[in-house]
Amino acid sequence: MEKFRDCYHNQRPATPAPRNYHNRLPATPNPGCCHNRLLDKKRFVEFLKKTIGNRERKRVFVQIPEGLKPELFEIVDAVESLGHECVISLEPCYGACDVRDYEASLLNSDVVLHIGHKKFYRDFPTSIPVIYYPLPIDVEIDGNEIGKIKESKIGLLTTVQHEHQLKEIAELLKSLGKEPVIGGSILGCDTRAAKKIENLVDCFLFIGSGRFHATGIETEKPVYLYDVERRKICAVERERKERINLARMEMLRDSKIVLFLISTKKGQLPQPGTVQQLKEKLEQLGKKVYLVALDEVKNDKLLGIKADFLVNFACPRLSEDKFDLPVLNARYVLERVEKLKT
Ligand code: SF4
Repeated sequence: MEKFRDCYHNQRPATPAPRNYHNRLPATPNPGCCHNRLLDKKRFVEFLKKTIGNRERKRVFVQIPEGLKPELFEIVDAVESLGHECVISLEPCYGACDVRDYEASLLNSDVVLHIGHKKFYRDFPTSIPVIYYPLPIDVEIDGNEIGKIKESKIGLLTTVQHEHQLKEIAELLKSLGKEPVIGGSILGCDTRAAKKIENLVDCFLFIGSGRFHATGIETEKPVYLYDVERRKICAVERERKERINLARMEMLRDSKIVLFLISTKKGQLPQPGTVQQLKEKLEQLGKKVYLVALDEVKNDKLLGIKADFLVNFACPRLSEDKFDLPVLNARYVLERVEKLKT
């Protein structure tokens, strides 16, 4: 079985692809690829009739992830076929944590249509209604490939795009003599579907098109990825993040100027009270803390700022990105900040 390392953020793919946390699909859908079809137009129009309706003309603000952009005009044409008008957001859209109702309202939109995700697990208010269309995608699973898994009790995980097929995949595994346990869909920041079945399984099988989700599953059990684009299975090797984090805590101990990275994306806003709590604790240790607000957190935006250390309050997976300065997630620091006193 092939192996790959935990490399979502740091390793560039052989063929550069648009970076997209959740929906990495070929820029040009390949007719021979395992995705039989992407947008099921009939199913989508039925969904639109039930959610947006077709009696009153509405302005629909469309958000779509990079990887689904090849479907963009088909999506918009389907919405407009019901008499509505669309405004397309071309800002990056990595997840349902990033709902742009503010921009939508500025442009007098009535509703946000958020493609490729389901409602975020953390609730937040929006100024106009938001409708989520996960865009279910049918994939073909090669039984010979998933039959290579040696363990018998297999926890099944996927993204929201393929969640509707988990029962079918479980049946396929049963026919191969395995004992599948359906976990459900996971996000890069939310792997509770894996946690809830961890004690029932020997390993996890993630069905998806990118490494991002599979490498986010925190478990001691083996994780396999069935890559729906290549129709291949591989074992997911994860580096021990703890060793890196401990080294960074030591760097934080020696740091004088600390930047708190705070994203203005609604689903990535800090938990109430956490910014102040950590700021006070670090100040007690003699550090100077500055709070910086960004929409998308990127290293480029930090160039020229003379800080020693970054504490990330935004998407927890960002700390795996390449930054010039050492970075740790706020939750990790909060849980261990008392140790810096010794
Ligand atoms: S917070 Fe990060 S991992 Fe979670 S949905 Fe948003 S971009 Fe994805």
